Amino acid sequence: MNFADFALDKRIMAGVSRAGYHIPTPIQVQAIPPLLEGRDVLGLAQTGTGKTAAFVLPILQKLVTQAAPKQGPVRVLVLAPTRELAVQIHENFVELGAETGMRCAAVFGGVGQNPQVKSLSRATIVTACPGRLLDLMNQGLVDLSRVDTLVLDEADRMLDMGFAPDIRRIVSRLPDKRQTMLFSATMPEEIRKLTREYLRGPVEVRAESTERKASISHAFYPVPGHLKAGLLEELLKSTDHETMLVFTRTKHRAKSLARKLEGKGWAATFLQGNMSQNRRQEAMTGLRSGKYTIMVATDIASRGIDCDRITHVINFDMPDTTESYTHRIGRTGRAQRTGEALSLITREDDEQVRAIERKFGGRIERRTLEGFDYDMPGRMEPERTRDPNTPRGRRPERGRSSGAQGSTRRDAR
Ligand code: AMP
Repeated sequence: MNFADFALDKRIMAGVSRAGYHIPTPIQVQAIPPLLEGRDVLGLAQTGTGKTAAFVLPILQKLVTQAAPKQGPVRVLVLAPTRELAVQIHENFVELGAETGMRCAAVFGGVGQNPQVKSLSRATIVTACPGRLLDLMNQGLVDLSRVDTLVLDEADRMLDMGFAPDIRRIVSRLPDKRQTMLFSATMPEEIRKLTREYLRGPVEVRAESTERKASISHAFYPVPGHLKAGLLEELLKSTDHETMLVFTRTKHRAKSLARKLEGKGWAATFLQGNMSQNRRQEAMTGLRSGKYTIMVATDIASRGIDCDRITHVINFDMPDTTESYTHRIGRTGRAQRTGEALSLITREDDEQVRAIERKFGGRIERRTLEGFDYDMPGRMEPERTRDPNTPRGRRPERGRSSGAQGSTRRDAR
């Protein structure tokens, strides 16, 4: 199957070519035809599967076919959990819809509202985080009375983040007669409930889950906790990577590890929850452009990180749940590319390691890095004391970096 089979308007096909898409991804093959017929769709798919274009393309087609006014009123509303995801979806609309002339706006918190209010007043397509949108609705600054297409993206994440009441308030003010689509990486009962409430006779589609994604290979690197930073650095040196995403357990650790790597000459940046919108944007743009080749991030901040350059995901700290593991590794091996998921594991991760292996249906390869001194003593912590990484980032790491690198304490401020 190829894009021509969807019989999309030539202005939209121009967007598809511009984006460099040649073959539709499985979720696009499944979702686009029913959406073009006007059906509601329930999509079990995570970021990285091409799900955004799966709804963006039919939505653009619908607007073009109906000769919708290009400068509002708002006809399409997309709700997304994070600013990053909202911006990415918005950019997808802008890129794929460039030739259609449809005006798009992105609405999210953390920045001044005036520019958003202004672009909202002229937009046909709006991608929004629920909190800020509701805020603007309550101020009477947005008219959603003409919305006939609603998308709830990463619905499970929105519920996890406590947006359920906001979503209900927003949806209750939309016209009943509309086409609705809901995408979610998981399908817990609350999502089923939302689906029953909001979707009418939906067609269910699902993308191949990351667990079975052949394009990602997994490996575990057992290491004493105090040698993690040193091992990471050696891995960076010995791995042929384009861009790496490194996960830590806390915001503090993300920042201090990124600074530490930066101090050693790596093009590293970080992304964590309490950064200003401008700093986040700078980090993401830098990652996409190749200015940074390493991003250290926390779980929440990583939602929706969309960068095709990511060839490796490294779990510097193991995630707390198998679900987070799945989400983290889903940042690599995107679209038609391959990726590697490498995890530094300590004895304290045993339980989590077993859970992940159960979920992924088999033993994951253990690797040791040749030439790395695994017997190096910790400077201040003998190996048998508590892993310094465990106390949730209250202290920066105190381990030594490998061999020639010397102490890393200086960098860990
Ligand atoms: P998404 O799951 O929507 O976040 O998409 C993941 C990445 O795949 C994005 O960078 C998209 O631009 C890209 N993408 C989406 N559809 C295709 C396609 N058919 N061919 C190649 N890349 C695609």
